[in-house]
Amino acid sequence: MSDLFLPDGLTRTDGTLYVESVPLTQVAQQFDTPCYVYSAAAIRNAYREFVEAFAGLDPLICYAVKANGNLSILRLLSQLGSGFDIVSGGELSRVLVAGGDAGKVVFSGVGKSAAEMAQALQAGVHCFNVESAAELHRLSQVASRLGLRAPVSLRVNPDVDAGTHPYIATGLKESKFGVAYADAFALYEEAARLPGLDVTGIDCHIGSQITDLAPFIAALEKTLDLARRLRTSGIPLRHLDLGGGVGIRYRDETPIVLADYARAIAERLQGSGLRLLLEPGRRIIGNAGLLLTRVEYLKTSSDHRFAIVDAAMNDLIRPSLYEAWHEIIPVIERPEASAPLDVVGPVCETGDILARGRHLSVSAGDLLAILSAGAYGASMGSNYNARPRPPEILVDGHTAHLIRRRESVEDLYRNEWPLA
Ligand SMILES: *Cc1c(COP(=O)(O)O)cnc(C)c1O
Repeated sequence: MSDLFLPDGLTRTDGTLYVESVPLTQVAQQFDTPCYVYSAAAIRNAYREFVEAFAGLDPLICYAVKANGNLSILRLLSQLGSGFDIVSGGELSRVLVAGGDAGKVVFSGVGKSAAEMAQALQAGVHCFNVESAAELHRLSQVASRLGLRAPVSLRVNPDVDAGTHPYIATGLKESKFGVAYADAFALYEEAARLPGLDVTGIDCHIGSQITDLAPFIAALEKTLDLARRLRTSGIPLRHLDLGGGVGIRYRDETPIVLADYARAIAERLQGSGLRLLLEPGRRIIGNAGLLLTRVEYLKTSSDHRFAIVDAAMNDLIRPSLYEAWHEIIPVIERPEASAPLDVVGPVCETGDILARGRHLSVSAGDLLAILSAGAYGASMGSNYNARPRPPEILVDGHTAHLIRRRESVEDLYRNEWPLA
């Protein structure tokens, strides 16, 4: 067993787990379980870590909204100066409602609709990260129709192996994302001729939860090389966007040191005249949130032991979807148990497993904290099994703010009616 790692914002005082100055027992009492709990200080610290590490490069940091798009979290980041990476018109609306600056928004994604393009053009986004020839043409048409020019970057697929889970690797040749490296140059020439477009940048995003610097450097060198060739051919770019994907510690991973990443980029970007853009999601919010849950039942089947908790795969799908590992610890400290158990939810799926083989000593009624659940937790939540989604709480110092209320069952069928 690796020694326990407590993410920023979490402490254990007199045996009780706290988020900043608020005990999780109090959060459970006030808001019930399951619920998501975030630390505002941890979010600020993670964002500032980027700002400080990259200070010499003056990058535009575009937080990836899909990691966690809660309005209060977007507002907090926007107040710190963050831009945003969006993948839908819905995410753009969230950013704008939260007070985000459209001029600091990059729009990624393989399937942008004409309506989403028009929405983003009218809002005045910083750049469209375009992923195919067909999308370039549609974007040029939509922009021309509106009498506007769309700032574009091509998402180039550098064909590097990020060494991450196949479902979150996006930079390989066979991936649906980006344009093939070999095709990119010709596509840039085409983009430069289209009337509704203003070619401004180049981008890539090679995957997620990457803990090795090498694939980032390989991707940077390939995109930079292309940018230089484009400049020579009369298509000068203004920015280079290296995407997100910087991994975090869930268990015993050794995350990339941001200062090392910044140094590797600075050395190569120097003199290129290109402004750096980054799209971190998980690295900013992943370790700033946890899912608080209560044990409903203990159960033994033949000799397999289960703790059945009130959170489930609909609240946090990462373990089911990616076999992701989340640390789970009791809110009130207990000695470690000798026999392992699986932590499972009430959803009617064998795959509804939050963790396997944990040495947790638990009783029915105990509170558990599922750590590092701030990214791709609440944002991937669903209502499967007619389960209302949990509330979200943002702790800031001594205060626990409710930032999303628990859904009601009526919310779930608000848009339905039994046919007469
Ligand atoms: C998901 C995504 C990100 C953020 O990835 P993280 O691993 O959370 O940093 C950034 N850019 C694009 C295009 C994405 O799809």
